[in-house]
Amino acid sequence: MSSTKILIIEDEQDMIDLLTLHLRKAGFALSTATDGASGLRCAREELPALIVLDLMLPKMPGLEICRLLKTDITTRQIPVIMLTAKAEEIDRIVGLEFGADDYVTKPFSPRELVLRINAILRRGKGEVAEEKKLSFGQITVDPARHHVAVGGKSVRLTSVEFKLLSMLMQRQGRVQARDRLLNEVWGYESVIDTRTVDTHVRRLRKKLGKASAAIETVRGFGYRIRES
Ligand code: CA
Repeated sequence: MSSTKILIIEDEQDMIDLLTLHLRKAGFALSTATDGASGLRCAREELPALIVLDLMLPKMPGLEICRLLKTDITTRQIPVIMLTAKAEEIDRIVGLEFGADDYVTKPFSPRELVLRINAILRRGKGEVAEEKKLSFGQITVDPARHHVAVGGKSVRLTSVEFKLLSMLMQRQGRVQARDRLLNEVWGYESVIDTRTVDTHVRRLRKKLGKASAAIETVRGFGYRIRES
């Protein structure tokens, strides 16, 4: 079996060496890119199993690279772990909201990074079982049957409402930005206003009735299903 490939996008040679040493030892095959443009190219061409992306890069900042990776139809499935030297909570949150799957704060323990990489790769495999039922409070979503119920009673949703709800449920507790929802629910090609998201969430809430309290509006940003 060929080893799992990881792409490292990082400009500091010391860090590249450190990552290379530990990730090789953990059995991964590696590619490296030292700036955003070549990182994006490499991601598209090689489709690595995971990308380790530094926040601080010359020319194009890591968050922008992350956003581009997560909006490109060929790369958006690839999990991204961000490396950041900024410990501020806001950066972490922003990192996640830009679609990164996880982050580690520099200086980090290579062992912890490997653990996180393995956790994400495992999670990724589990996603084949996207068919598994989701539930929160009174709401249950059964993707296999395309069925939603509130307190055991069926609710009829349009396919857009269904996708919206499933996406929020799958990422319970994490805020989903309007433009990310747009990309994922409507597809990257759609050129529609982010207010469309609000309109559909409003309809979705109406159909869910009281249970809709689970969907929280994060002002100026997006939506999330509250953490249980
Ligand atoms: Ca850097």
